[in-house]
Amino acid sequence: MEYVSKRLGSLHPYVPGEQPTDRDYIKLNANENPYPPHPSVIEAVKSALSATPEKLGLYPDPDVTELREQIARMLNTTGGVLSRAVRPSKGEGTCRPAPEDELGFEITPDMIFCGNGSDEVLSFVFYSFFDSDRPVVFPEHTYSFYPVYCGYYNIPMEKVPLLPDWRLDVTSMLAKANETGSGMIFANPNAPTGLALTRKEAEQVLNAAPKGRVVVVDEAYCDFGGESCLPLLKDHKNLVIVRTFSKSLSFAGMRLGYIVADPELIRSVFCVKNSFNHFPVDFVAKTAAIASCKSAPYYADNARKVVEERESFTRFLRGKDYFVLDSSTNFVFARKDGMSGQEIYRRVKEAGILIRHFATPGIEDFVRISIGTHEQMEMLSKIMP
Ligand SMILES: *Cc1c(COP(=O)(O)O)cnc(C)c1O
Repeated sequence: MEYVSKRLGSLHPYVPGEQPTDRDYIKLNANENPYPPHPSVIEAVKSALSATPEKLGLYPDPDVTELREQIARMLNTTGGVLSRAVRPSKGEGTCRPAPEDELGFEITPDMIFCGNGSDEVLSFVFYSFFDSDRPVVFPEHTYSFYPVYCGYYNIPMEKVPLLPDWRLDVTSMLAKANETGSGMIFANPNAPTGLALTRKEAEQVLNAAPKGRVVVVDEAYCDFGGESCLPLLKDHKNLVIVRTFSKSLSFAGMRLGYIVADPELIRSVFCVKNSFNHFPVDFVAKTAAIASCKSAPYYADNARKVVEERESFTRFLRGKDYFVLDSSTNFVFARKDGMSGQEIYRRVKEAGILIRHFATPGIEDFVRISIGTHEQMEMLSKIMP
């Protein structure tokens, strides 16, 4: 088309899980949280809007200072893995990290950057830390937004195949990165496989990665039982951790994602943000997010329920002869001999439940199923082919 810029040609937009409106499906296709926000979140928004309606007409705090304080506090008190966070005892308002999730240092607000969903935050990360003079290294099957940003910012990419057992091939990823002096990004736990690297494995990556380049770890699903890399920030300035409120904090409809990294790296991302949109986190999102952080024990209970359902649904599928990867997330990735992923998806959809199928070569036999409530998983169990 004659009117559009040349760079439009390099765009290959991300395709999210379908959001049909023709029928009331049970949505288990976008890894959303099946539980509603805590009532205090709704209350906080309502009372902020009635007490200070003029705030909607004023620009919000561009630095979201109070929110970054609350996120730091939530991470310090949960260790970044809600499903294992120890419930507060009587009289205490906050959780404690499980022993294996102890951070060993304190996360401070200057280590945090917030944006309009982690998709936006990731786009700032790609702009801030990856260049067009060398490829960014990531796994072949991972969050499919990474190649989209490469097209958007004209960053070359090097996709490294997964191992035959679907785990990340960190040895080959490191070899590629060192060959070209490149930065790396991977999701941990990974999507859509659900498999996780241990913190020790992630630390080996950080130690062997090219000097002067970042390693980005996308922890969108870490609250459901992965091992967070947050404790590694103490000794690794090249580590950039991206997290989101969408999955574990029932916030996909509000949009809030954040980075945790060294304050110097955070300042660079602020520079990028302020060159694009000064106010990515609006007043309502900020108010709701602060209240969510304060209700971490509630979300920790929900994460535990999701983990419990995931484990029993995995056993169920295996009993029905499905091959199911060991998930550390709020979804499972499964296939069945003699049945295509498309076929499973289609039959489940006919019965009123949406799951996700990827036509991507290599994973086209699989379906990805988000973990819903107990009732939703019972219904799905009845109709799984
Ligand atoms: C869902 C998801 C995101 C995006 O989350 P938003 O905050 O809703 O934009 C980022 N990374 C991975 C791996 C995800 O699965």
